[in-house]
Amino acid sequence: MSTFKDKVIIVTGASSGIGAGAAVHLASLGGFLVIVGRNVDKLKETADQIEAAGGAEPLQLLADMTNEPDVKKIVTSTLAKYGRIDVLVNNAGILETGSIENTSLEQYDRVMNTNVRAMYQLTMLATPELIKTKGNIVNVSSVCGIRAFPGVLAYNISKAAVDQFTACVALELASKGVRVNAVNPGVIVTDIHKRGGMDEEAYAKFLEHCKTTHALGRPGDVKEVAAAIAFLASDAASFSTGVTLPVDGGRHAMCPR
Ligand code: NAD
Repeated sequence: MSTFKDKVIIVTGASSGIGAGAAVHLASLGGFLVIVGRNVDKLKETADQIEAAGGAEPLQLLADMTNEPDVKKIVTSTLAKYGRIDVLVNNAGILETGSIENTSLEQYDRVMNTNVRAMYQLTMLATPELIKTKGNIVNVSSVCGIRAFPGVLAYNISKAAVDQFTACVALELASKGVRVNAVNPGVIVTDIHKRGGMDEEAYAKFLEHCKTTHALGRPGDVKEVAAAIAFLASDAASFSTGVTLPVDGGRHAMCPR
């Protein structure tokens, strides 16, 4: 229960899915959570889950990650309340479908601004604080960062960028005692695919198909990613930095034959 005792942990995109699951798990392990999202009611739901799991009342921050002043406010509000940052979980992200034949620059900008630029800005602003605490960063990437898939072009590029960002910043901050890692989930049951345009029927088929596209024969659960995030953020991973850790039921290791 005390892995993250007194640690101040920021989680973006904490109002749903992997971000909410990670926030609840990290709070249940003793952390003081700063949960960031755009929807007041959904953030409150995460806050209620945190308290139900025995965690301390989290700081709830409304921010659009593509709005620069909002991102600045995440750091200033966290420091105003807690005076420190120990862990940054860069989780907020969007998925859009589109191939080189039907994508658009607007789509490219939306996906890259949310999945990469916002992470770049928040990490840049949090870094001086993480250096003071010898803290660490966990970025939420995807199996799409390490393997190529057709039909989600901008998303794949964005997650490959997240992986390179992870490795480069890990090297830049290693001498300062700050670790930087990423998790690369396979298909995890959340709302992201439906938000990305799948209807219920297509989503049901997609999940069925996951039984063949993931070596372990199923899609993953939010809790399985939350556990990997907590591991990388904890002292148990004290000699790991620059890691991109698949949490994907073996999907990254598969090749069609
Ligand atoms: P989700 O849609 O439930 O979570 C994404 C969160 O990011 C949401 O809370 C959303 O509101 C937030 N967000 C998006 N744009 C934002 C913005 N401009 N400002 C503030 N918040 C914003 O889906 P999820 O599956 O939990 O996704 C979390 C992360 O996991 C994403 O980075 C996603 O790419 C990654 N991921 C998900 C899967 C999967 O299969 N679910 C697989 C690999 C990677």
